[in-house]
Amino acid sequence: MEEPKNWWKCSNCGYTLQAPTPPETCPSCKEKCIFIDATCYTPECGGPGQIDPQIGR
Ligand SMILES: [Zn+2]
Repeated sequence: MEEPKNWWKCSNCGYTLQAPTPPETCPSCKEKCIFIDATCYTPECGGPGQIDPQIGR
């Protein structure tokens, strides 16, 4: 069974990536930034495994 990965969005540059846990350093801006959980949790955006369009762009 495949575990749904979370979407993470860098609060610094807005870069999004899919991973079980957010990385310590953003691969885009190379800063240690806060990663916001941008995973969709509602059926409107496709459920877990999908990015929440409200956050993820
Ligand atoms: Zn970044």
